[in-house]
Parts: sequence; C-alpha cells; structure tokens
Amino acid sequence: MRAFDFSRAESVGSAAQHGNAETAFVAGGTTLLDLVKLDVMRPAAVVDINALPLKTVERLADGRLRIGALVTNTDLAHHPEVKRDYPLLSQALLAGASTQLRNMATTAGNLMQRTRCPYFRDVGSACNKRQPGSGCDARDGINRMHALLGGSADCIAVHPSDMCVALAAIGATLTLEGPAGEREVAFADFHPLPGDTPHIEHDLAADELITALTLDAPLTLDAPLARAGSHYLKLRDRASYEFALASAAVQLNLDGERITEARLALGGVATKPWRASEAEAALVGRPAELASFERAAEIALRDARPLAHNAFKVDLAKQAIVRALRDATRAARQGGTDTQESQA
Ligand SMILES: Cc1cc2nc3c(=O)[nH]c(=O)nc-3n(C[C@H](O)[C@H](O)[C@H](O)COP(=O)(O)OP(=O)(O)OC[C@H]3O[C@@H](n4cnc5c(N)ncnc54)[C@H](O)[C@@H]3O)c2cc1C
Repeated sequence: MRAFDFSRAESVGSAAQHGNAETAFVAGGTTLLDLVKLDVMRPAAVVDINALPLKTVERLADGRLRIGALVTNTDLAHHPEVKRDYPLLSQALLAGASTQLRNMATTAGNLMQRTRCPYFRDVGSACNKRQPGSGCDARDGINRMHALLGGSADCIAVHPSDMCVALAAIGATLTLEGPAGEREVAFADFHPLPGDTPHIEHDLAADELITALTLDAPLTLDAPLARAGSHYLKLRDRASYEFALASAAVQLNLDGERITEARLALGGVATKPWRASEAEAALVGRPAELASFERAAEIALRDARPLAHNAFKVDLAKQAIVRALRDATRAARQGGTDTQESQA
C-alpha cells in the first residue's frame, strides 16, 4: 500500500479547501481503503471527514426528508421516518453488504461507491474507467456480472449500489459544497452514463463535498387517499453479503385494482442506477395483475444488450420486476406495509 498524508477536517469549508484530484475524503472507508490497498485508488492525501456535523436526518417544511452525508447505512435503514415513509429505501439498504459494513458505510460513501467490475479492481487488466484509453478487458472477458443496459464500447461495468436503486425510484436531490458555495444536483443526473468517458463517474468536482441527500416527498403525501406500496427485490448468487445480479425497486399507488402511479428502477444490470420510465408509463391505468407486470418487464428490458456470459440476466431482471411489482401491489393492498423479505 502506498503512503499518503492524513488529516482530519474540522469544517465543511476546510474539507473542501483540501479537495483536489490527488486527495480523497474518507467517511466509513469501506470502499476507499479496499481500493487503496488494491492500488486502484492512489490518493496522495486522505482527509477524514467524520468529525463534520453531517449526521442528522430532518423533515423539511415541504415534507421532504434531508439526510446528512455521514448518516450511516444502518442508522438510515432503521430511522423511524424512513421505515414509515420510505420502506423501499430501508429494504434496499438492508439488502446491501453486511451488518458490520452498514454500520460503517455512510450515505455519501454509498452514493460514491465504485464498480465491482473485477477488471477495474485488477491493476493488471485494461480498464478505461481506471485508466482512460487503456481498453476494456471485460468486453471479451468473463462478463457474467456486467451491464445489459447503459453500456458503451468503452465500459460495461455495473453500478453496484442497492441504496441508489431505491433512490432512483423515490427521487432525490444531492447538496454539494465547494469553494464556490453550495449547489444542488438531481440524483438522476449525478451518475452519468459511461459513453467514451467512463472515468467520469459523478457530477462532483474534486474540491466539492456531498453534504446532504434530500428525498422527494413520499408518494402518499401527494395522494393521501391512495395507498402507496413498495418493494425492493434483490436476486444474487447467495442470500447475503453479495452484490445483485438483478434487482428491482418498485413503488406504486392503486385506485381499486388500477395502478394510478408507478415507479420502477433496476440494479445489477445497468451502468447507473436505472429508472425504467417507459415501463412505468406502461403500468399506469392498467390493472395490477400479472399480464401488466410482464408487459412492463418486457418494456424495461427491450433495449438490453447481452454479452457472451450474461444473457441469463435478461430473464432474471424480468422476473425481479414481475415479483417486485407483485409484492408492491400486495403491500399497497395492505396499506403500504410490506412484510416480505427483499431477498429471493
Ligand atoms: C465486502 C463488501 C460487500 C459489499 N456489498 C454491498 C452490497 O451488497 N450492496 C451495496 O450497495 N454496497 C455494498 N458494498 C459497498 C458499500 O455499501 C460501500 O463500500 C459503502 O456504502 C461506502 O461508504 P463509505 O462511507 O464506507 O465510503 P468511503 O469508503 O469512505 O468512501 C467511498 C468514496 O466516497 C468518497 N466520499 C465519501 N464521503 C464523501 C462525501 N461526503 N463527499 C464526497 N465524497 C465522499 C470517498 O472519497 C471515496 O471515494 C459492499 C462493500 C464491501 C467491502
């Protein structure tokens, strides 16, 4: 492991002043330290931001929930207002990693976590994300885990986060702070598609810090008489401590048997947290039944581009969508309470 300078930031302003292309902020350290040890990330300096006052969850006057960047994945998953109003987010968080990791991992660190593509994590392999212009060994390599959606000639690495899939369905805004002041970015715009610049993974400058994440108002707040139901389903090689092969985050509202509003996002199959907007539109006005769910799944995957080893994920993702829609419907009928496990 290479040596680096280490310091602790006392304020958001001083942390941002330290920020540059050679510096990394450390929060829980569960992504950063692994990648430093693997020599994938090579910061000359690491700035510990854990003393910053970014650990609170507060309800805003407009009904949205603002989450400090340093709130841990465990605290967020078990926060009473998250469990009540955003059970989808709680489920997705609890489907990720392990208890020990979630106790350390932070909201901002999760937003910033990097792909688990084995070629990215192996400095002996060609990877345009790690080293621009070096090529992509995954394309002709073992690409069982790689993306069906949103890939490019230069990169097919999957975005690994479970939390971010729920956020894609819920909608959120990030607050960023740098020397030029504060700015906000819609969650949907924060992770760009790889295109021919897969090394650009976020809309965040080197001297900016994520300070907060604000969730859109819950679906039920806009339509108090309707009953929003939600479900996060994660399919993976083993039941815990494993990344998704395919996952689906669903929120929906029903009026009787008809779907009046639907949100659908996919994980494990795309290069960014993937909102399936056309499939959502195809659900609205339809009866909440298997035929509607299967049609939505077909639409969500119709642009899938399977590779040599991951064609099985097309069907897997469709099944995840159908089952998550089914379970979200059941939750809606029960008044939004989803008691099912998120795992297969
Ligand atoms: C074995 C293992 C299994 C895992 N399984 C899963 C899983 O199943 N599902 C899943 O979703 N995740 C999984 N993870 C990933 C885990 O969720 C992330 O490592 C974690 O969320 C990162 O948070 P952190 O606070 O530890 O980030 P850190 O490691 O501290 O930081 C990660 C990155 O974010 C940057 N950063 C941190 N805070 C800020 C900030 N406020 N502003 C700007 N930049 C910042 C850092 O500079 C760094 O580049 C797993 C991780 C491991 C090690």
